[in-house]
Amino acid sequence: MKKKPLSFQVPIMNDHQLLRKVASDVTSEISKLSKYLEAIVELDETILQAECDCCGLKEECTKEYISRIRNSYSGRWVCGLCSEAVKERLNHDPVAIEEAMITHRKFLRDFNTNIRVNPKLSLTLAMKNLAKRSGEKRRN
Ligand SMILES: [Zn+2]
Repeated sequence: MKKKPLSFQVPIMNDHQLLRKVASDVTSEISKLSKYLEAIVELDETILQAECDCCGLKEECTKEYISRIRNSYSGRWVCGLCSEAVKERLNHDPVAIEEAMITHRKFLRDFNTNIRVNPKLSLTLAMKNLAKRSGEKRRN
């Protein structure tokens, strides 16, 4: 059995029609590519660098995420670790969120200036405070 060769019917176009079709295809492709480029440019604009108000950590985040965090923390941006610390503080002590953030900032400042610089002295002072507090409890 002899195979019949595949045949396609190609519409016969004159040069002018062919040029019009090519121009139309190119315009369509450029339109698709420009939409992708607009999306990429839009994405680049929405990523910003945010700095934690408590510890100073810098992170690249989307505009939406930054504004969501700022709405939750009275207009300030806090990193994930500090937000967990502030939440923990709020769970133990029902205070205003600003007060919890101030307390956390003070804790970080004290940690960086005392404990990080001289951990042995800090441990000694913590033990002294613990002994002092338990002595006060016994007296009461
Ligand atoms: Zn932080």
